[in-house]
Amino acid sequence: MRNKKIKRKVGKGSRKCVRCGSLRGIIRRYGLNYCRRCFREVAREIGFKKYR
Ligand SMILES: [Zn+2]
Repeated sequence: MRNKKIKRKVGKGSRKCVRCGSLRGIIRRYGLNYCRRCFREVAREIGFKKYR
């Protein structure tokens, strides 16, 4: 059997902000991988006013 890559739901370090590369406080909602800081900025562009 070969099980090299096992996809896990969520893991520490498995996700990072696609904007700044930070690993902390990543938000994966709506298919976005942004950290909290970037998300707030991006959210404004997308149309979100509040995140959570
Ligand atoms: Zn970021």
